[in-house]
Amino acid sequence: MTPPQPLIETRTVGAWTVHAIQAGGQRLDGGAMFGVVPKPLWERRIPADDRNRIALGMRCLLVEHDAGLVLIDTGAGNKETEKFYEIYGIENAGTDGPTALEDGIRAAGHRPEDVSLVINSHLHFDHGGGNTVRNRDGTVRLAFPNARYVVQRGEYHFATHTNERTAASYFAHNFVPVHEAGRYHFVDGEHEIVSGVRVLPTPGHVPFHQGVLLESRGERAFFLGDLVPTAAHLPLPWIMGYDLEPLVTMESKRRILQRAMDEEWLVVFEHDAEHAWGRVRYDGKAYALDPVEAERAH
Ligand SMILES: [Zn+2]
Repeated sequence: MTPPQPLIETRTVGAWTVHAIQAGGQRLDGGAMFGVVPKPLWERRIPADDRNRIALGMRCLLVEHDAGLVLIDTGAGNKETEKFYEIYGIENAGTDGPTALEDGIRAAGHRPEDVSLVINSHLHFDHGGGNTVRNRDGTVRLAFPNARYVVQRGEYHFATHTNERTAASYFAHNFVPVHEAGRYHFVDGEHEIVSGVRVLPTPGHVPFHQGVLLESRGERAFFLGDLVPTAAHLPLPWIMGYDLEPLVTMESKRRILQRAMDEEWLVVFEHDAEHAWGRVRYDGKAYALDPVEAERAH
């Protein structure tokens, strides 16, 4: 099996160049990914393998903002065991650096040291796992040593106070070292982080999940995170079984997708193996995708 390709898709949003970096592949149980949607319906959109798993991506967004490089989400990192990556079907090893994310950043012409802002949609291991890196000697360091990291204050608290249902997704070494280094900028609710880069609460998957709205010269793009993980999840009731509060997810989707359509946002899919982005339309029954090509892909 090979991780989804291409590694990078690039286009502009207003004045900024943005790179959708495929930080690896992931294979998760199709039933868990589609919640109450019956298999005969979901497998028409994403086929299952012989273990009932579907192919997913782990896309991050790198924005060449005039105030510095902004990275949204960081993939699954390199700190877990082989067995762990096997269970979740994660293939994210780098060819040059420790991870495919670092390969992608370098292929875009940058280095991890150049990233000035990291925004985590939430702190699950496949979204914040690349916040830190394990060195060969076993020690853990910040993957983006010069960056300020942003997450909702409530999400950090939630991630550090787990229960039997939530603990399997939150690993302290992905975020506690960031806090200990004094690099977290915790925000409460909607907040403009740097000019034109705004986090919007989109609860449901977890209570303090956030999306990221980019706005430059009248163009808008929105990083959906786990609110709508793939284009197949655009219909309102197509919600992951992983979501802690599915009815809250549905209301977040209703609000965000209506705005995405009205304001012609480019929406960015984190877990779609195929589509990095597109525009939202309503086909009379459900929200659907109008795919948008990258200006460059490699
Ligand atoms: Zn998640």
